[in-house]
Amino acid sequence: MVPRAKLVAANWKMNGSQPDNSRWLQAFRAAPPRCEAVVCPPFVYLQQVAAGLAGTAAGVGGQDVSDRALGAWTGEVAAEMLLDCGAAWVILGHSERRASFGHSDAIVAAKVERAVAAGLRPILCIGETLHQREQGLTMAVVAAQIDAVLQRVPAARLAGGAIAYEPVWAIGTGRTATPAEAQEVHAAIRGRIAAHDAPAAAATRLLYGGSVKPANAAELFSQPDIDGGLIGGASLVAADFLAICAAAAH
Ligand code: PEP
Repeated sequence: MVPRAKLVAANWKMNGSQPDNSRWLQAFRAAPPRCEAVVCPPFVYLQQVAAGLAGTAAGVGGQDVSDRALGAWTGEVAAEMLLDCGAAWVILGHSERRASFGHSDAIVAAKVERAVAAGLRPILCIGETLHQREQGLTMAVVAAQIDAVLQRVPAARLAGGAIAYEPVWAIGTGRTATPAEAQEVHAAIRGRIAAHDAPAAAATRLLYGGSVKPANAAELFSQPDIDGGLIGGASLVAADFLAICAAAAH
């Protein structure tokens, strides 16, 4: 089996400004990481970030995409538009969009289907809430989230993207899953995909997300089924994001 190359993605969420982004991009270009990296800014900064990363190996991604075809859908952003602005990747199913913007498993699956059909590489986010974990439902929740997507998109098509396991209780809270806790769920996710398509499961990169920082990244990334990270808060500081990438490059 070809080893899976580590991948580290920055989720800037609704942060940034043109001057701040310029400074971030300058710092990134001064010390480009040795692992594969993707930067996902708000839609309006995609072209600025794509231009700033030109000449580096880093990719660009959106943070969501419409599940509709081009046309009269006010406020929506189509997959073709992301590609047109230099994005090759898109984060889908982030827990903030699931919880605050009504993105059900079915909607997320439709978005993944549309993104993949257009040629985007999805970073599909899944993960349980604290309440679900305390009730012992973690595996059932992530399995249902994966199955909803695999009903519409073959596992082999997802393998070009990544799946990010992001326990909701660890996002932006400073509380990280222990490497053992994360590894246990990652192994189960890989097993779930393998039930559909074993080669695709072996090839799919599984990222951990939830309060990853320079101090805890190396230990998380050393787990056998953790193939990198999806980084929120720490990705806003270029030096911290680069330090996390360095932890993945070992
Ligand atoms: C995220 O929102 O994808 C995330 C992992 O956030 P944070 O790193 O801030 O927990």
